[in-house]
Amino acid sequence: MKNYNFDKILPKLEKFVQNLGVPVVTRIKDRDFDPFKILIGTILSLRTKDETTEEAANRLFEVVKTPEDLIKLSEKDIEKLIYPVGFYKRKAKQIKEVAKTLIEKYDGRVPNDLEELLKLKGVGRKTANLVITEAFDDYGICVDTHVHRISNRLGWVKTKNPEQTEMELRKILPKKYWKTINPILVTFGQNICKPISPLCSKCPIEPLCPKIGVTKSR
Ligand code: SF4
Repeated sequence: MKNYNFDKILPKLEKFVQNLGVPVVTRIKDRDFDPFKILIGTILSLRTKDETTEEAANRLFEVVKTPEDLIKLSEKDIEKLIYPVGFYKRKAKQIKEVAKTLIEKYDGRVPNDLEELLKLKGVGRKTANLVITEAFDDYGICVDTHVHRISNRLGWVKTKNPEQTEMELRKILPKKYWKTINPILVTFGQNICKPISPLCSKCPIEPLCPKIGVTKSR
């Protein structure tokens, strides 16, 4: 069987990223462990810088504590609160619809079930898995662009998109790492294993990395 070195790589990276900060959705969770806020915060964070997401989430959650609060607001009001997150107009409409569905179908609560989460408007596998792990401390593998890129560079998988990466990781990644692989690799990817020209000379797992697909590094 192929040696993926998960036990050598992931604990080392977990320790390494401790001083580099945590991803925005984890920060939202740490401040207020509320599945609704974690779901909405995750939607706001898509294609948006962490600082922008955090400021927008803070403004929104000053006014909105529950799905009922959210549906009382007009789309225009929501837009104003979440601006300038990416696609803020589309997201204002989306989160209002999500809140409405939660009230109508789930008794105002966020379901702890991947398939049910995927039924919510605009919620894809990345968001659904992140809600499962962050909001419910349950088993999911959230594969975003960082997890996808780094898993390929390390040779864990050979895949073309995050969804394929998630499916492959589900086969090979020990369950004890399912919840933590996302926050670890997001912070590592933002700071060291960057998309273009990764900082391999500063990388703590450099001797273990085959650097697949890396043509330029620092
Ligand atoms: S050695 Fe380079 S490519 Fe490999 S994980 Fe480290 S930063 Fe990424």
